[in-house]
Formats: sequence, C-alpha cells, structure tokens
Amino acid sequence: MFENLIAQSAGNLLIDDIASRRLPPSILFSGPSASGKLTAALELARVLSCLKAGEWTCDCPSCRRHKELAHPDLLIVGPKDCVLEIRAAQAAFLANRTQATRYLFVRSLRKLTLRFSQALNDREDSKFAKAAGYLADIEEYLEELSPARSMNEDLEALKKTVESAVATAEKLESECLWDSVPVSQVRNAASWARLSPSGKTKVLVVEQADRMLESSRNAFLKILEEPPASVVFVLTTSRRGAIMPTILSRVRTYAFVERDSKAVSEVVSRVFRQNPEGVENLPSFFYRFLPVPPETIAQTAALFLDMTLNLALDAGRRPLPSMRAAVDRALTGVSPDERRSANPALIIGRLNRCRPGILWHLFLSSLTDFMRRSLTTLGADSGEIGTYAAWTASIRKALDSVDVYNLGPASALESLALEMRDAC
Ligand SMILES: [Zn+2]
Repeated sequence: MFENLIAQSAGNLLIDDIASRRLPPSILFSGPSASGKLTAALELARVLSCLKAGEWTCDCPSCRRHKELAHPDLLIVGPKDCVLEIRAAQAAFLANRTQATRYLFVRSLRKLTLRFSQALNDREDSKFAKAAGYLADIEEYLEELSPARSMNEDLEALKKTVESAVATAEKLESECLWDSVPVSQVRNAASWARLSPSGKTKVLVVEQADRMLESSRNAFLKILEEPPASVVFVLTTSRRGAIMPTILSRVRTYAFVERDSKAVSEVVSRVFRQNPEGVENLPSFFYRFLPVPPETIAQTAALFLDMTLNLALDAGRRPLPSMRAAVDRALTGVSPDERRSANPALIIGRLNRCRPGILWHLFLSSLTDFMRRSLTTLGADSGEIGTYAAWTASIRKALDSVDVYNLGPASALESLALEMRDAC
C-alpha cells in the first residue's frame, strides 16, 4: 500500500497508524502543491475499504472500484487545478497504452468529476445544473475507457475519445468548478457522512481546506466535533497557517515535503511515463501542458506592468525607474504600438482568458517576480520599495478576489491596475 506515493514518509506513518488501529477520524495532509496529498488520501480510502489485506494489487470488489475512483464511499470537495494533470495523463496514455496509464488517465478525470457527485448536489446551485451535461458526456467516455474493458484497438478512434474527454473536462473545470467549498456542499457532505457506508469505511476528502469561507468552516466544524462512526475526514492544504485553529485542534497533521530532484524524476518517469530531463519540480512538469507557455505569461506580466506605469505617469505619479528598466528588458522585441495598445482585455486574452485558472496564479506570481528583480538587481530606491509593499497587498487581494470571492479575472485585473497606479 501507498506504493504510488513516492518519497513521502507520511505514507509509512499512515501504514503504521492503520496497522495499529491508531488512525484518527479526522486528519490533515499539509505540504506544498503536487506533493502527493490527494494521492495519499485516495490510497487511504482504498486501503480502509479493502476487504482483504489492502495491497495495491488486491482485486477485491472494493479495491477494483476504488482504483477507478468509482466507489460510492468516496467523496471529494474543494477546488483544484485538475486539467494539467489530466493533460499529462492523456500524454502518458496515448504514448504508451498500458493498463497502468489507462488507470492514470481514468483516475485523472474522476478526480475532477467526483467533485460533482450527486450526494453534493444542491438544486439552487446553477453550476450543478450546468455540469450535468458535461458529466453525462464524460461518463460515456469513461465507460469506453474503463480498465475493466478490453482496449479499443483502433488508435484513431481511441485518440478521438480521449481528446473529447479532455476537452469536456476542461469546460467542466473552467465553467462549473467552485473556487472554494460552498456551505450547501458542506451540509450535503455531512448528511452523506451520517449515512452508513456501503462497504467498510467512508472517506470525505476536503481539498484546499484553507480556502473555505467562514460559513463553510463553521458548518464543517460541527461535523468534526461529532464525527459519525465509519467515516474518515481527510483535509488537504498547502497553507496550514490559514486553517482555523478550532479545526486544527481537531485533526492530526501528516506533513508532506517538497520532493528532491531524484524523487521528482521518479514521479515523472514512473507515474507519467515522460522524460524527466530538465524538470526541476512537479509544478514545472505540469506547466508543460499549459495552453500558454511560461515565457508568454512572463511577457504578459511585463505588458501589464508597462500599462500600469503609463497609467501612473498620466496621473502625474512617480515613474518607478527600476521597475521601468525591468519591464523594458522583458519587452525588447515588442513593438511600441503593441505596448501602447495594452489594456486589461488584451492582457486577459493573452492569458487564454485565465483558463485553466492556474494561469491567473502564475500571472500574479510573475508580477511578484518583476518586483523581486527590480529590488535585487536594479536597486530600487526607498520610494519604490514602499510602492511594492502596497502592490504586494493588492496582488494578494486580487488572488483572493478570484479564488475565494468568485470575481472574474477580467474585473480583478482592472481593479488591480487602478490600485497599483494609485500606489505609485
Ligand atoms: Zn482489496
């Protein structure tokens, strides 16, 4: 068990705690993104439900359903960027059509669709209604791709099914996935948890638990205070400090660490069957599958800063010479016309309208990189340093306004430009 969780000692702790029956009903997996927290949660769910000894090769009916992530005793809530992993799994499967890569691809899709489980359905929530059509289509593709069936020998037809599944999953994620956990879902998940499991144990996974809003956190706390029997709650976070102390006091934390380059190579080659050369960490491996290359994101950030500095000058504010120098450097090769015509709509367009949502995060962190460059290599003066402190707060706010408060990136970007202009 936990063989697929590479280079994380949390796996061994879990094995020990399960063997000695010391696994608490509420646990927290804390660690950097792409460190295997969800992998561990799903493996834990399989092991706890297994009708035999819990080995990965077990073929009991429960394990078979868990391996396809189609077990009724498993529920996932919470936001996640699923699309890049789906694309990575697609590449692995099409390049090397084995049973292992087929599971990889099917599981990558289910990691997304499980968040729209009927048990969580809220009739008042329009996103559920919109998701229904996409989910029905994906279920059909999954049926065709199921590892329980013999593989389609017609490669072109198989490719078509896979591509349609990925395209539909992208729409599902960008149009329907919530950026935090709505309180109605916490209540529905609590009702689900109170019903007896169909097998041995139910597992509810709450991803990015730090992003829950107050009402959701309070509703969730209630169920943690009186956890039903036969249910294990697994929370995941990469920002443990942002989780409410009352929740932290009720969970046991298992720490996940940043993997070293050898372990990263192993994940890339063993799990995703790709060449690990030049991959420094897993997030950068997944960025290979972004629709906008990292260089374009960085250049778009420079274009946005250029636009903001021009707005500041027009408003008679300070010109920020070191930032101007950093921006000029990044925009060599971009025509003056193009620079002058930059506006929020164009910026968002260059970022593929921030789909998948991770593009918005990468764009904002690119802005922070420019500030760092201006400070460390170009020697920003104290006036600029003060401005950057204000910018950092505005960027943080822009991140939360999309992640937590569901504002569209286009409006968030417009407000950000004005706030940054005024801080010059
Ligand atoms: Zn089993």
